[in-house]
Amino acid sequence: MAKSPADKTADASTAPETVKRAARQIMQRFVAVPKDMPDKRSAPERSHDFDEIYGEFDVAGATQQASRCSQCGVPFCQVHCPLHNNIPDWLMLTAEGRLEEAYEVSQATNNFPEICGRICPQDRLCEGNCVIEKGFESVSIGSVEKYITDSAWEQGWVKPIKPRHELTASIGIIGSGPGGLAAAAELRRKGYQVDLYERADRAGGLLIYGIPNFKLDKEVVERRTQWLADSGVRFHLNFEIGRNATLADLRQRHDAVLIATGVYKAREIEVPGTELGGVVPALDYLIASNRRNLGDDVAEFDSGTLNAEGKNVVVIGGGDTAMDCVRTAVRQGAQSVKCLYRRNRANMPGSQREVANAEEEGVEFVWLAAPETFAGSGKVDIVTANRIHLGIADSSGRQSPTLIDGSSFEIEADLVIKALGFDPEDLPGLFGEPALPVTRWGTVRVDHKTMMTGLDGVFAAGDIVRGASLVVWAVRDGRDAAAGIEQYLNAGGQAAAQAAE
Ligand code: FAD
Ligand code: SF4
Ligand code: SF4
Repeated sequence: MAKSPADKTADASTAPETVKRAARQIMQRFVAVPKDMPDKRSAPERSHDFDEIYGEFDVAGATQQASRCSQCGVPFCQVHCPLHNNIPDWLMLTAEGRLEEAYEVSQATNNFPEICGRICPQDRLCEGNCVIEKGFESVSIGSVEKYITDSAWEQGWVKPIKPRHELTASIGIIGSGPGGLAAAAELRRKGYQVDLYERADRAGGLLIYGIPNFKLDKEVVERRTQWLADSGVRFHLNFEIGRNATLADLRQRHDAVLIATGVYKAREIEVPGTELGGVVPALDYLIASNRRNLGDDVAEFDSGTLNAEGKNVVVIGGGDTAMDCVRTAVRQGAQSVKCLYRRNRANMPGSQREVANAEEEGVEFVWLAAPETFAGSGKVDIVTANRIHLGIADSSGRQSPTLIDGSSFEIEADLVIKALGFDPEDLPGLFGEPALPVTRWGTVRVDHKTMMTGLDGVFAAGDIVRGASLVVWAVRDGRDAAAGIEQYLNAGGQAAAQAAE
């Protein structure tokens, strides 16, 4: 009888010592085989378009790189992956040429491995904790993960979800970012009826309108949302909770509701001149660029308001959003691009890999500097900034920045992009539900064991719970929330709660 991939994987971990020894011979090649990544397009070539900058491994490359893994007894890569992906197993299956099985193992813990493989900050998660990192460079985990699932799509192994039984219980999900999409996939797998409400005109959240193409091609995202539609998830686009319906309406309509709305209130910068023309919020700028690349007419882009072409651009901030802005400005043909950040390189929140990519593309980083004023007549033309000194680390371990007196200097700027991070919107107010419990930062308060809020049958996941975070954490939360919803419905859900009252 043919064995299922899961059986075969189980066999690998319970196999007799001789089989394990044979497997180890294929693996542990890190001494002989140096680390390699898929080809990266050269900076001059990639700086003029929005195509992804990394290519794909070929079969030989993926097999070789996977074989570098030493199959650790305690795999720290897996411990530090928020999804606890079974990395050693799918690396071994790839090294053995058993790619379809590698795909089955990989997709069992991650709904979107090809997306995480592209945009996780692996240097801080799986790869940064790979134990062969010290003497030899880490295994290229993210690139192999991407290769496995891109190959699965090419081979037709990724099939729409067909639940074994359809269930009558229905779940309403608010927000179609990675948190909402991961929960939708998990709930459909169990047979629940899933309605996804999204205020934008396309599904995907920040995957579609925030993160630029050169990191994550939009076809990769649209392929996944189409796959969910083919799996029976009903998408309601241009449907905003708070405008087209209240939270109470949704609770009436569905047996459980999941809030996965992300965080969108841009943090402001408190300096004179923020009201000047040419000083714009990062997300407005990135959304305009992404829409334009998706083929939409974007008036603010055509008028030049949200277009860096020919301009001296200054981006304020040091996170992923700032990195995406500087690199977008390069591709739009900016005359110069500078990134102003108040801490130093070692203390910036953005991925080091993205900083290196930005530098290669000609971005100038002005470390340890903070803006003092934006000046110009009606429209910005000068940013005045001060140098910063980093003081002694506080209890959180971060050094506090202080201004150095008399250190001010000027930078020419026609476009200033503010990328200082995001806070949650006022959800209880927007949803017309004052009883929805939030923390003092405005994030939705949940019981982390179940992901349920203080409202019966209302769950929450992703950035709206954690604050601005990562795609992989949103996927993890979406999966946890789906498990919490299933547990809740199995226990009787709203009906049980009403009966108990
Ligand atoms: P979101 O992706 O924000 O999705 C929320 C969705 O809810 C949106 O579609 C929104 O329109 C919808 N919504 C909101 N309110 C309502 C409402 N009232 N009614 C209906 N719909 C509503 N993470 C990484 O791991 N790697 C990266 O490289 C990376 N780069 C980033 C670059 C940028 C520019 C930004 C801003 C973030 C980046 N992140 C990155 C972070 C990552 O995108 C987020 O952590 C992740 O998308 C959060 O997922 P989510 O599902 O919680 O929310
Ligand atoms: Fe690494 Fe992210 Fe993949 Fe986990 S999901 S293995 S952290 S790339
Ligand atoms: Fe392989 Fe590195 Fe993970 Fe160890 S930590 S199992 S060597 S990928």
